[in-house]
Amino acid sequence: MAEVLVLVDHVEGEIKKTTYELLTAARALGEPSAVVVGAAGTAGKLADGLSAHGAEKIYVAEHDSTDHLTPEVTVLESLIGSASPAAVLISASADGKEVAGRLAVRTNSGLLGDVVGVSADGVSHSVFGGAYTAEAKSNTEHPVITVRPGSIDIEENAGAGAQESVEVPAANSPQATVTSREPITGGDRPELTEATVVVSGGRGVGSADDFSVVEGLADALGAAVGASRAAVDSGYYPPQFQVGQTGKTVSPQLYIALGISGAIQHRAGMQTSKTIIAVNKDDEAPIFEIADYGIVGDLFTVAPQLQEHVAARRS
Ligand code: FAD
Repeated sequence: MAEVLVLVDHVEGEIKKTTYELLTAARALGEPSAVVVGAAGTAGKLADGLSAHGAEKIYVAEHDSTDHLTPEVTVLESLIGSASPAAVLISASADGKEVAGRLAVRTNSGLLGDVVGVSADGVSHSVFGGAYTAEAKSNTEHPVITVRPGSIDIEENAGAGAQESVEVPAANSPQATVTSREPITGGDRPELTEATVVVSGGRGVGSADDFSVVEGLADALGAAVGASRAAVDSGYYPPQFQVGQTGKTVSPQLYIALGISGAIQHRAGMQTSKTIIAVNKDDEAPIFEIADYGIVGDLFTVAPQLQEHVAARRS
């Protein structure tokens, strides 16, 4: 059976959940092989989790070079040459998309971007803000596929996890030097694209100070906080928390939209959430078309009530 390369998404020695989704998806195409690119010692911390989630092989490319902006590209390029994988799966995160684009160009591979389903027959995309599902296939060998975080249900499926060291090819006349890497986090809250629950606020929140209502409900639920572009553009919340076409794509188990109208560009980033709850004082707001549960009301009344109920159930 052909190998399927899975680029391991990790931050400071911790595997991101999306990696396990990729390993699960890879099983539909062949034998998953995890590819770890990182500083010396990284693979040792990640190996158990990777094999528990189905990695038959773990390619380890450890390096301390600062000449590479994206060493993952050259490592995957060289593995495509040596392993002839059936496909390469990468998380559709901002970094993942950059790696995927460069890799596809360098290896002349088809690029299937932001897919929400992978099968032996092809991949599926959620398009037009989630209104349609499109099926696609690549006509090239070893297509590069980016998978939307949160769209695959993780299965535990033990793999052999045999480790193999691979070289990080030297950077070709580096034009940039990496001086530091600092992960952006939401403080103690889960990372937006990784969170199982996301509570987002829109222009209806009305001010930066009032975003504390959104944060309060999020913290009661152990959720990440998101924001619509109108909320970001109005200066209510920082841009790295924007959800939507020009922001992050999230697909949590539960998405709560507070004071968000539900424009197509916002839906594009959250429509594949498993359950959507919308709170809006306008009963004709488009967000109710996609909400599983809609509450017509003032968010400043409803959100604190929800928070109180959640806190009461948890105590
Ligand atoms: P509004 O549309 O102004 O809606 C506010 C809502 O709050 C209303 O429905 C109102 O009824 C409700 N409300 C007001 N007060 C309360 C209250 N007290 N209680 C309850 N409800 C209340 N948008 C994104 O979100 N993400 C993107 O990535 C994105 N990318 C874009 C890319 C392009 C190229 C373009 C053109 C637009 C993009 N947009 C994006 C903008 C998008 O079109 C909308 O303008 C934006 O999503 C609206 O944000 P909103 O719903 O918060 O604001």
